[in-house]
Amino acid sequence: ATPMSIMVGVGKGAHSGVLIKNAEALERLAKVDTIVLDKTGTLTEGRPALKEIRPVGSLTEDEILRLSASLERGSAHPLARAIVAAAEARGVELAAVADFDEPAGKGVVGRVDGRAIQLGNAAFMRDNGVRLGQAEAVAEGLRENGATAIFVAADARPVGILAIADPIKENAKAALEALHGQGIRIAMLTGDNRTTAEAVARALGIDTLEADVLPEKKSAFVMRLRAEGRVVAMAGDGVNDAPALAAADVGIAMGGGTDVAIESAGITLLKGDLMGIVRARRLARVTMANIR
Ligand code: ADP
Ligand code: MG
Repeated sequence: ATPMSIMVGVGKGAHSGVLIKNAEALERLAKVDTIVLDKTGTLTEGRPALKEIRPVGSLTEDEILRLSASLERGSAHPLARAIVAAAEARGVELAAVADFDEPAGKGVVGRVDGRAIQLGNAAFMRDNGVRLGQAEAVAEGLRENGATAIFVAADARPVGILAIADPIKENAKAALEALHGQGIRIAMLTGDNRTTAEAVARALGIDTLEADVLPEKKSAFVMRLRAEGRVVAMAGDGVNDAPALAAADVGIAMGGGTDVAIESAGITLLKGDLMGIVRARRLARVTMANIR
């Protein structure tokens, strides 16, 4: 590869909102045959909104929201921000929290009004000894519509379910179709549950889906594909995604995502525009073809 033609390629990328860190990233991107995409914040807007509150006990919607938002004020997760924003919109006053903790990819816990409150996915409820009972059927109905269901438990009993929906990015479908047209296989990776993930994967024509993935397992999935002989690009936005970006042949960070992700990536897409992957890949192929 001549340095000059690669410099030209890098410069052209920058013009179309694709920041390429070095020649290696461009060279590898030309050979990529598989792209792994994180769901939240990469394929979806990453700006989820609270759609519904379903009480499953004696607490009212506002009481459930008060407990939930009080805890989530301590989290920077996009789901947490949706819950806090909904409380603000409804004028619900927040309470003080003690013993706050946030196990990554699971949820949040803490004490509010002297009660132990847990918020998170089904696995997290199980970890905390919460029996979901009928709450699980309610959650499944919400997921089938593509929403993420967050359980709220007080003193180890479910009190409600929050339905949070994160819209798919406007150009995601077109970008994936163009990548398919380039002969690339597309996998989606998410810490979200299978039913919600399937609703999104179906809408986008994804080839392979890995759901319920803990943050530390994301890089293992990328390494497994590489061990199968695939040349893998991984696109993600979160702190959670950084190790997987580093484990891929090419890491692609969403601009507007976290700095850690951007530092771990060889390529950054300004404004998180997925069409940037299509442009970057086309540019990489043309640049490398000119060199040979
Ligand atoms: P993704 O891979 O889709 O970006 P994460 O790994 O960040 O998702 O989170 C996985 C799942 O863990 C979420 O879908 C949610 O169910 C749960 N979760 C994580 N953080 C929180 C939080 N702060 N509040 C509620 N649930 C959470
Ligand atoms: Mg994410």
